[in-house]
Amino acid sequence: MKDLLSLEINEIENTMKDLGEPTYRASQIFSWLSKGITDFNEMKNLPKELKEKLSRDYSIVNPIIRSQQISREDGTRKYLLEFQDGNAVEAVLMKYKYGYSICISSQAGCRMGCRFCASTVNGLSRNLSSGEMLSEVLTVEKSLVEKSLRKDNLRIGHIVIMGTGEPLDNYNNVSKFIRLVHEPKGLNISMRNITLSTCGIVPMIDRFSEDFPQTNLAISLHGVNDEIRSSMMPINNKYPVADLIAAAKRYTEKTGRRITFEYTMVNGINDSDEDGEKLANLLRNMLCHVNIIPLNKVEGSGFDTVSKQRAFEFAKLLEERNIKATVRRELGGDIDAACGQLRLKNNH
Ligand code: SAH
Repeated sequence: MKDLLSLEINEIENTMKDLGEPTYRASQIFSWLSKGITDFNEMKNLPKELKEKLSRDYSIVNPIIRSQQISREDGTRKYLLEFQDGNAVEAVLMKYKYGYSICISSQAGCRMGCRFCASTVNGLSRNLSSGEMLSEVLTVEKSLVEKSLRKDNLRIGHIVIMGTGEPLDNYNNVSKFIRLVHEPKGLNISMRNITLSTCGIVPMIDRFSEDFPQTNLAISLHGVNDEIRSSMMPINNKYPVADLIAAAKRYTEKTGRRITFEYTMVNGINDSDEDGEKLANLLRNMLCHVNIIPLNKVEGSGFDTVSKQRAFEFAKLLEERNIKATVRRELGGDIDAACGQLRLKNNH
């Protein structure tokens, strides 16, 4: 069975040609898929024989919502979505004034090995297909409609690729996913409303800025020099800080877009005033913004967090040196949905 949800419209058009069908059927099918329809019988404007042919050769990814947690603090919802092969990933829905934003996973597990992150503890299970990533958005959106949470007419308008997985380690599928959600006949999400976060795979950052100059990029920096960064993130041994900053500069020069540096603060590792000063020097004159995240504790990692107050002091120190900085509003802390806590408690 082929995965229909992973196909772009032009690919569905080719399929229609192969089946001897008019190509406009492709748009009809694509728009049903984008509404979250997963049963060919519900595609009401398709002829019966076409529906039969499609259901013989194609399946539509339809993960089961295995569990759902709702934060009492802020209404953030965490979904555990299970695919047919038993792999489960998490997607997190956050509500902002301007609408819903969803944080999706790009891989089941992760092989980057960041020492403070829960997602990488069991390594990489497998890449997700573009259709599976799209199904995270569609499944969550459908559940909003069913629960009439859309009374307020807010839709999922923003996507952050910041859940489990390293998106630039699954580039082909992630880039296809971005094109799928951007498609005007589908979810029609603006490239500017999509953010990809990477641990810093330098050559792929260049590729990304070439392919998606309008999409936002966030880089997980966390350390001001190689010694600190390598002690937290093995990827730094391959692509050291200087190379990463050079790639970030190429991105801003090419795209004219402001880059976000994520800076997870860890007690005694990267949280001193001196670290702040070094960070300000490193980023001087760059078109950038620093997003400070007090570490979310992960059992067994040995890393400790910092107080909210320390995070704000650190932000202030950066601001005083003309570096834009904010402390990330942590959503869903009480349901383990915050960064790095997307650990699958059942070993999937
Ligand atoms: N692989 C991508 C995206 C996933 S992680 C990346 O590395 O950017 C999203 C962000 O959360 C990254 O900045 C990551 O370093 C950070 N993060 C991971 N674990 C965390 C933790 N326990 N506390 C705070 N931030 C964490």
